Amino acid sequence: MPELPEVQTVVTQLGQKVVGKTVKIFWSDWKKKIFPTFAVFVKKVRGTAILGTRRFGKHIVIDLDNGYSIVVHLKMTGHFLVKHKNNRLSSAFTEDSKNGYIHHIFTFTDGMTLEFSDMRKFGWLRVVGTGEVETLPSIASLGIDALSPKLTQKHFHGLLSEKMKRPIGVVLLEQNLIAGIGNIYRSEALFLAGVLPTRHIETLTKNEWLKVLPAIKKVLRTAVRLRGTSDGDFRDTDGLEGRFQKTLHVYGRTGEPCKKCGTMILRKKIRQRSIFFCQKCQR
Ligand SMILES: [Zn+2]
Repeated sequence: MPELPEVQTVVTQLGQKVVGKTVKIFWSDWKKKIFPTFAVFVKKVRGTAILGTRRFGKHIVIDLDNGYSIVVHLKMTGHFLVKHKNNRLSSAFTEDSKNGYIHHIFTFTDGMTLEFSDMRKFGWLRVVGTGEVETLPSIASLGIDALSPKLTQKHFHGLLSEKMKRPIGVVLLEQNLIAGIGNIYRSEALFLAGVLPTRHIETLTKNEWLKVLPAIKKVLRTAVRLRGTSDGDFRDTDGLEGRFQKTLHVYGRTGEPCKKCGTMILRKKIRQRSIFFCQKCQR
């Protein structure tokens, strides 16, 4: 499931590729994920130019020049592909089956298309007034962004000190506390910090406290630079895999040797979601 780095990759790339383009047609064969309705969406979007792209947690926002914005959530397997006339048949798009589940297409007046591939079909698109974007319940409820400069050590300590009796690995997933971290990056960040995900926050030493936030930021920044993790369906807007999966230390590596100490990586389910760790490197 796309997390902050994957969504940021899409937002950055769309910012470079589609800003200034004018939407000619919008097509969909999965209208139940177009809100408020397909007809309203088409009416608000057609003929508008794209002003810019933004990110709120794991949401993508595409601002239009008519006072409306498109809010998108990729959910499990959604991703955007930008196709020019001359790259439409490129191997990245045609040979990778993950790019073959196109359910929504924006066609621009210059012939370029912005296509949404989504195998599981949970991803959604919603048009709202630009001024209402931050009042959407799923955005309004978000906590501070994990990469926000305002998320300082002091702020982080304050947020987590209200969750003392809970495991750090669980709390990091709470989007209403800190937005953008999911399964992959909580596992990797806690490995980097040397802290077991099952540790209750109240048991963290001062030294451990000082390691967790920098580890989160480092892992997320590196993943943004490598265009995210493609452990499953995620592809960037060129249809290409991200590169962070090559650097994973624990996530998805159950039974494989730890890259640092050789101990077998373990997996545990907490709240129905798998978390990965090395019991020697993490305490
Ligand atoms: Zn280890």
